[in-house]
Amino acid sequence: MEAEGLRGRVLSVASECVPLIKTGGLADVVGALPAALAGQGWQMRVLLPAYRSLRARAAGWPEVWASDDLFGGRGRVLAGEVDGVSVLLLDAPQFFDREGGPYSGGAGDWPDNALRFAALSWAGAEIARGGLWDGWRPDILHVHDWQAGYAPAYLRYQGAGAVKSVITVHNIAFQGWAPAAMLGMLRLPGSEFHADALEYYGGLSSLKAGLVTADAITTVSPTYASELMRPEFGMGLQGVIAARAAQVSGILNGVDTSVWSPEADSEIVAFSQRTLARKAENRAILQTEFGLEVPGPLAIVVSRLTDQKGIDLIPAALPEFIEGGGGLAVLGSGDPVLEGAMRGLEARFPGRVGVRIGYDEGLSHRMFAGADAVLVPSRFEPCGLTQMYGLRYGTLPVVTATGGLADTVIGATPATLAAGVATGIVFYPTDALALRLALRQLVDLHADARLWAQMQKNAMRHPVGWEASAAAYARLYEGLSG
Ligand code: ADP
Repeated sequence: MEAEGLRGRVLSVASECVPLIKTGGLADVVGALPAALAGQGWQMRVLLPAYRSLRARAAGWPEVWASDDLFGGRGRVLAGEVDGVSVLLLDAPQFFDREGGPYSGGAGDWPDNALRFAALSWAGAEIARGGLWDGWRPDILHVHDWQAGYAPAYLRYQGAGAVKSVITVHNIAFQGWAPAAMLGMLRLPGSEFHADALEYYGGLSSLKAGLVTADAITTVSPTYASELMRPEFGMGLQGVIAARAAQVSGILNGVDTSVWSPEADSEIVAFSQRTLARKAENRAILQTEFGLEVPGPLAIVVSRLTDQKGIDLIPAALPEFIEGGGGLAVLGSGDPVLEGAMRGLEARFPGRVGVRIGYDEGLSHRMFAGADAVLVPSRFEPCGLTQMYGLRYGTLPVVTATGGLADTVIGATPATLAAGVATGIVFYPTDALALRLALRQLVDLHADARLWAQMQKNAMRHPVGWEASAAAYARLYEGLSG
């Protein structure tokens, strides 16, 4: 496995990875990192649970690690390759061979989630210490979110040797809570059950365990990194993160620019900065698809319909926008109350508002290609992907000044317009009034064809691929291992 120009090896531990298993953006990032890092000289293997849906795929893969007592049962690791990514699957049927999703079955969250993902983390720490039979040893253990949070802790408490660890927070809202009585069962040292280490509001949190024991902490945007140290965003962990501020950094996610490319998207009438006029053909198709006739700017929402995403602000802000000539197409699903609110807008503004409840990848491409603007009024947004798709397709993002939204969109202000660098509209605070004013600004900017075209070109030029982020991860790894 010795590669030319190899700078080091990384074991990535996560509960999701595209194309194998996905419930959210975490899977996209974990799946994209190996190829992005390979370009920087870092060889990455990804350790995942062998969920039922993945077991058949691993048939015939060689066994590279096993334990007779992985938290009460047998566990083994199988090594293979999927779409060029080197994958390690933890086969522990008592934990992962079940009908349902990664975290829940028909009756809600699996009651043994703490133990299931502790098992994943244990195997990760064993591999980090050089446990693989094929001789592969990582220099860096890189774990993602609460599901892998105990891995840096196991590594530290049992002797890490030269291996350094990194934990990445994709969303602080999920913390891997467990009762204190599970300390022994989770193979954690009683001596570390205090506020500066494992104890979390009287219980345990795998995310906190990772945050206090990893050598470095990253999150998916610089702004979210600083927000996480504040009570409004830290969700109880703000003090833990602030105490380690020197080890915290924010590295933006990238998007797959081969999938999200207006020049090469098979779902749309292709266009580029030079052939922007063809975007109008996509707009006409999109209006027909949603039954809309919109004289002014056509905005879209492609999102989980949840409180986090600020969807509840739209009904109060929209009437003035509609009156100003605007229209809205919505694709999403989630909270039934918000789904109902979106359907209510469709009924109230026929021909101006169209709504599809559901998940539809192809339609989302046609929406980004055809719309003028994408609305992302999130209350918090660790990184966010849809504003970056918008930039790629000259569909200007209208976003709140939070997390990755603040880091990827240059809001139109007199200064940024004079400098010719604006790529969208950024508003604050996150309320219906600010959204209403942002939509008013959208109508005004859109009415100035020359200015609008300039902003579209700025947006399409903005780099949203993985190159800069991969280089930032590589610098982090080098700083730790060097
Ligand atoms: P989050 O991970 O918080 O949901 P992100 O913006 O990071 O938000 O990622 C959401 C991803 O899911 C994007 O790729 C977005 O296009 C996609 N998505 C969300 N809802 C839908 C939907 N209804 N149909 C198609 N794609 C969707």
